[in-house]
Amino acid sequence: MNFYSLNKKAANVTFRDAVIKGIAPDKGLYFPENITPLPNSFFEDIETLSNTEIAFEAIRQFVNDEIPDDKLKEILKEVLDFDFPIVALEDNVATLELFHGPTMAFKDVGARFMAQCLGYFSSSTDDEVTVLVATSGDTGGAVANGFLGVDGVKVVILYPSGKVSDIQERQLTTLGMNITALEVDGTFDDCQKMVKTAFLDADLLENMQLTSANSINVARWLPQMFYFLFAYKQLKSMGKELVFSVPSGNFGNICAGMVAQKLGMPVKHFVASTNVNDTVPQFMQTGEYKPKPSTATISNAMDVGDPSNFIRIRHLFKNNFDALNENLSSFSFTDEETREAIQHIYGMAGYIADPHGAVGYLGLKEYQKNQTIPFGVFLETAHPVKFLDVVEETIATTLKIPPQIRRVMGRKKKSIRIAEYKELKAHLLNNH
Ligand SMILES: *Cc1c(COP(=O)(O)O)cnc(C)c1O
Repeated sequence: MNFYSLNKKAANVTFRDAVIKGIAPDKGLYFPENITPLPNSFFEDIETLSNTEIAFEAIRQFVNDEIPDDKLKEILKEVLDFDFPIVALEDNVATLELFHGPTMAFKDVGARFMAQCLGYFSSSTDDEVTVLVATSGDTGGAVANGFLGVDGVKVVILYPSGKVSDIQERQLTTLGMNITALEVDGTFDDCQKMVKTAFLDADLLENMQLTSANSINVARWLPQMFYFLFAYKQLKSMGKELVFSVPSGNFGNICAGMVAQKLGMPVKHFVASTNVNDTVPQFMQTGEYKPKPSTATISNAMDVGDPSNFIRIRHLFKNNFDALNENLSSFSFTDEETREAIQHIYGMAGYIADPHGAVGYLGLKEYQKNQTIPFGVFLETAHPVKFLDVVEETIATTLKIPPQIRRVMGRKKKSIRIAEYKELKAHLLNNH
């Protein structure tokens, strides 16, 4: 299996090189040359397979033989050592909980898988890889946790000072070892700009192997298809058509769900639910893609004005708008609607949703207004405790702090403050 650049101006690469490079030299996103559907028997017998076996069958063609089967199984077993339960809330509505991993957001799956792949690939060379990542909150913690102690890989995380939650900050600043946190005097956009500048900086590229751990990296993007398959496994016996509503920011998660569909998983429709950063809902209305600066919301992991993975979704549907429109609806919601949804879900089912999951719930309900028959699953992408202030204030209840979070609360923050790109560059050059 090779991967090509969606900008079509760079050479095709293997899985290994796509993971190590992150993004193609022509700045395009890598995309698999083929997506071969799994045999019918896989879906017919899916209840008899373990999560690790399902993941192995799904990812194998993309990894090819670049990681031996035994090693790949071992990696998957470690990555998927937590639960992915479905919780029913209404007759035709359930949530898929993706927050039972170490940092309590779905990004644990992709971050752990990428870390293990990169660790495996760098064990066969002397070259150290530096992972550079900007975070608005959840990515940093998941990446720090996933890469902690991985040989041959250093991780540098940039985050905007004072703009991530206390829990998120502790998750990315307290681990030490091969993880360094740079606290930037600026916004998330400033962090992202610095990271982008670094990837284009010839001085750095000559001196070190830099890669990204955002969902543009195929090893972070593709494993996100696993839990759509786990959901299908749990719901199949109902015999109903399924719709997934995915709270979306950079659109990597929903795009991975669509890859599962290309592998043959029966899904009737996808709903991309967003906050007021509505570039995609607007596109689905008008057919015009107009990126814009991001707006801050209470579902901050989705504050994205130019979603990096949407180009992969369009490509999956051969840039045919009508074909995409058949398979995808997209709706946008305000913070006020999101808070009302958190209250509604709590009042109706006693279930505490986080702001991202609540946006997913709203999108699903909007779709079901016209299409009541299909069974809907919205993804609960983070544990509500990660957005403690917003959730506690909205439902006037105190949340119990889970052990994963309690553990980091007592740890001491360690970060390096920077304000300008030249400080990032100096840090990278002096510490590799
Ligand atoms: C990252 C994140 C999202 C958005 O996922 P994308 O793959 O970027 O669309 C949604 N919810 C939470 C909690 C996240 O951390």
